[in-house]
Amino acid sequence: MNNQLKNKVIQLTKPYKFELRDKNIKIDSNDIVVMPTLCYICAADLRYYTGNRRPEALKKKLPMALLHEGIGIVEESNAAFNKNDRVVLVPNIPGYVLDRKEQKECCIACELEEVGENYCENGIFISSGYDGLMQKFIVHPKECVVKIPDDVPSEIAALSELVTVSYEATKKVKINGDERIVVFGDGPVGYLMYCVLSFIYKIPTNNLLIIGTDESKLNMFEFAQKLNIRGDEPFYDAASFHPTYVFECVGGNNMGDAINYAIDIVRRGGSIVSMGVSEQNVAINMRDVLEKGLTIKGSSRSTRHSYPVILEYMRAKLFQDMLSKVICERRFEVDSIEVLKDAFDFAASKDYWGKIMLTFEGELYERK
Ligand SMILES: [Zn+2]
Ligand SMILES: [Zn+2]
Repeated sequence: MNNQLKNKVIQLTKPYKFELRDKNIKIDSNDIVVMPTLCYICAADLRYYTGNRRPEALKKKLPMALLHEGIGIVEESNAAFNKNDRVVLVPNIPGYVLDRKEQKECCIACELEEVGENYCENGIFISSGYDGLMQKFIVHPKECVVKIPDDVPSEIAALSELVTVSYEATKKVKINGDERIVVFGDGPVGYLMYCVLSFIYKIPTNNLLIIGTDESKLNMFEFAQKLNIRGDEPFYDAASFHPTYVFECVGGNNMGDAINYAIDIVRRGGSIVSMGVSEQNVAINMRDVLEKGLTIKGSSRSTRHSYPVILEYMRAKLFQDMLSKVICERRFEVDSIEVLKDAFDFAASKDYWGKIMLTFEGELYERK
């Protein structure tokens, strides 16, 4: 393998502006060279694109290639993979993999399994201060590259980052399968959490309640009870459900309302797992947290160890059918910067359901 690679990278240089740049990158003996082929736009990518981050964060992290949810095909590898293997790229690279040292020598998150290496102090996350998948080639450590089983379609496999994030959030509580569970949020994060709870944990339709604000989105959640809080007497219905666990998948400006609503409806001694992201501090009704003996846990990102587990579940046709509903009907074949901009402008419009899929065509990077 060459240890230098002439690469092309599309970086966000400032909000709403992408630029194609040449970049030489070094390849380590442990690295795999992968050509990204199919990605989804994440809310985190959109916050950079629209400039909806604190000015210090923007200044520190740009210019940078966006996208971290995706797959590619292997271009060059040592023995670990074959050329043209379809692989998922794990965006979270823990410090001990980067620095090639023992896991327990890295940090407290890597040392203690119950914390998890997604909270590593020394790790990096691509498209968060480091170039993401918007490149002709990505050079990635072999530990963070996962082969896709042949019977998992590419557009399903590319959802594995999001699905592992939901899966790891469920590990924050102990689910036996007979408790009542609420998913708060009818967007893609809520939908994938619902898929994990329904398919992997087999939570029956009657014990799973989705709370949202949009009737057409709520209709996507086939195997669950639904509650539209813009409807009549919503509080009464949700409280009488007596959930043991509430997964908050709202984030943004409404996150505070969602958490406080969750505090109102969760049963005594129950837990709230928070997955939404908000740029603002959130005021929480701590009085009732104390009075009801509640636990609030945060969950963010996922580790490379969950990917093979999720890809194995993804071989099931029913799981594929459930997951495919989260893919937005409008898809973008990106063969120019203009199309890329169209895709991000469409994503920023918020006038659609689901995850926006991008496929990368040859002409963009002069691949042909
Ligand atoms: Zn993401
Ligand atoms: Zn660490």
